Amino acid sequence: MIRLPRVPVPEQARDLLARRTRNVEEAGGTSRAARTEWERAHAPKKHVRTALEGMARGAVRCMYCDDSRATDIDHFEPLERAPLRAFEWLNHLLACSHCNSNAKREQYPVDGDGNCLLVDPTAEDPADHLRLLLHTGEYAAVADSAKGEETIEVFGLNRPDLVKGRQDAFHRARSNLRDWHQLRKQADHEAAREAARVAQALLDSPFVDVVHVMARLTPAVALIVVGPLTVPALDAWKAEGGPWARWTAGWAP
Ligand SMILES: [Zn+2]
Repeated sequence: MIRLPRVPVPEQARDLLARRTRNVEEAGGTSRAARTEWERAHAPKKHVRTALEGMARGAVRCMYCDDSRATDIDHFEPLERAPLRAFEWLNHLLACSHCNSNAKREQYPVDGDGNCLLVDPTAEDPADHLRLLLHTGEYAAVADSAKGEETIEVFGLNRPDLVKGRQDAFHRARSNLRDWHQLRKQADHEAAREAARVAQALLDSPFVDVVHVMARLTPAVALIVVGPLTVPALDAWKAEGGPWARWTAGWAP
């Protein structure tokens, strides 16, 4: 799971969403009313989907697992629990059908004060609660983070296919980075174009959370985790003006 800065929806969409919320209120504000209104709200859903697809990475990857194509608009706080948030833009994320329908479903754990115990990657940096162990491909909660533990459990972030996928992605990413670095060192235009294509392919690939974590390793840890063969390429990748700096440009500190 990686941070995905939220964009505003167009003004026209905001009006449509507000009108639909009023409809739910007028129909009694129940989850049934919200579900009925949601099912027939084709135009607002189209706006929401378009905006979310612009925020998703690569070939519209799921915002939770970073693997499968995101097919479903997920209500982060479920309709059953918060019918009046059915048309709230900040409550919409894009998920694959497995994460949405098999893993998360209607779950929305909260702490004793009612605060949500799931990481919303469009509202906060998942790295505050989740640590990806590159060698095993597994997520672990950052020390004492109940939110991290619940997030791993509810989204099934350590299901075997994802763990294996991240292990493979880690090997591929190191190889891609070294290729990219070699191409970048050549002086001709064709090599530069090829380097740009390799960089973009890496950023668009599934499990971009692996690439994300690699880029955030401290130099001492990077030497151990990615190995001395790849460190020079990773340093160039992270350098000012490099692909990583451009990718994260505009993120709030
Ligand atoms: Zn998913």
